[in-house]
Amino acid sequence: MPRRRKFHYLTRSLKKQYTTRKNLMRPKVIAGNWKMNKDLLETEGLINDLKRTVNFELGSAKVLLCPPFTSLSLAKKSIEGTPFLLGAQNMHYMDEGAYTGEISPKMLLSAGCQYVILGHSERRQIFGETNELINKKAKKALSVGLIPIICIGETLEEREKNITEQIVSVQIKGVLKDISSQDVEKCIMAYEPVWAIGTGKNATPQQAEDVHKFIRKLIGQLYSWNTAEKVVIQYGGSVKPENAGDLLLQPNIDGALVGGACLKADSFTAIIKAALR
Ligand code: PEP
Repeated sequence: MPRRRKFHYLTRSLKKQYTTRKNLMRPKVIAGNWKMNKDLLETEGLINDLKRTVNFELGSAKVLLCPPFTSLSLAKKSIEGTPFLLGAQNMHYMDEGAYTGEISPKMLLSAGCQYVILGHSERRQIFGETNELINKKAKKALSVGLIPIICIGETLEEREKNITEQIVSVQIKGVLKDISSQDVEKCIMAYEPVWAIGTGKNATPQQAEDVHKFIRKLIGQLYSWNTAEKVVIQYGGSVKPENAGDLLLQPNIDGALVGGACLKADSFTAIIKAALR
């Protein structure tokens, strides 16, 4: 993995110019993580509602729907002719085999997925996923052409101990281990402070921006500043219509991974609108 410290040598004004110029190249990416919600009928209903409410141009922004596995095929059919893109919430790193209950990358591709969420904190906390496992999954996803949305973030206890940067740093080094700069540029990183997920308590725009800036700087140190500037970094954790605008205005916040608020067309649409501002 190349280690260059270009950023270190740039003057403050050059850094600003560089950031501004490259920022224009990063699309805003809004992803809805439906988690374990919506059966087939409800899937159809939500997508039909979204077709009605998202009645505006998305420009360069991308909107991803990540329903449960059982809804992927139906969702794929329902989003035909719309700008929505499809993602899954998890996958195994093997193509096939005796892995009862698991879903392979090949299956996701055949269901029409282009994205896959990996290492969500619920998978880490409830199902014991480690950085090592997430790294295996990320490499596999990239090798078959799926774009991984790789989740990282600290717990409340870790934030209170003031070790957020250490935690995020260990997670990033682990999940990106041996992934080339070319592939890292394709990845979406999702900074999701665990204390903000599903709690209604979001990070303030400044708290989130500080960590996003740290993540970009770290990727710059591990790869190059050029690579770091291309990586889309989403914020996730109680994103709602009321806070989306301020969060998405931050220079290093390139989108949102939305849980609860993506389950209703009105609130998800309002968040998408905020990203276009
Ligand atoms: C999530 O599931 O990734 C998430 C951020 O959930 P919520 O928006 O409900 O906090």
